[in-house]
Amino acid sequence: MPAYDYRCNHCGRALSLFYKTYAAYDAAEKTCPHCGSADLTRVITNVALQTGEVNYRGMSSGEMLSVLEGGKRDEVDTLYRQVGADPNKLVKDAQKIKKAKGDK
Ligand SMILES: [Zn+2]
Repeated sequence: MPAYDYRCNHCGRALSLFYKTYAAYDAAEKTCPHCGSADLTRVITNVALQTGEVNYRGMSSGEMLSVLEGGKRDEVDTLYRQVGADPNKLVKDAQKIKKAKGDK
């Protein structure tokens, strides 16, 4: 479940917002639960988990595969978006590579 930390620029309080899916996060209107302001600044707490900061284009296919195998939906979605690939094809490719490596 994607969770994001923000700081409200209006009342100065820290807050965390949780979303069921990355799509829900994209669609959501982010507002401060304390004062209702939409003037929020994203707080980066853990760069490795912040999908927006990862450059998937610079990854090798092996690194991409480990993202796919990791199965973190928001990471996988970001990877698809950045690479511009067809998700179904990527998953198929990943399965092929997995088979070739003799896993499972
Ligand atoms: Zn506020």
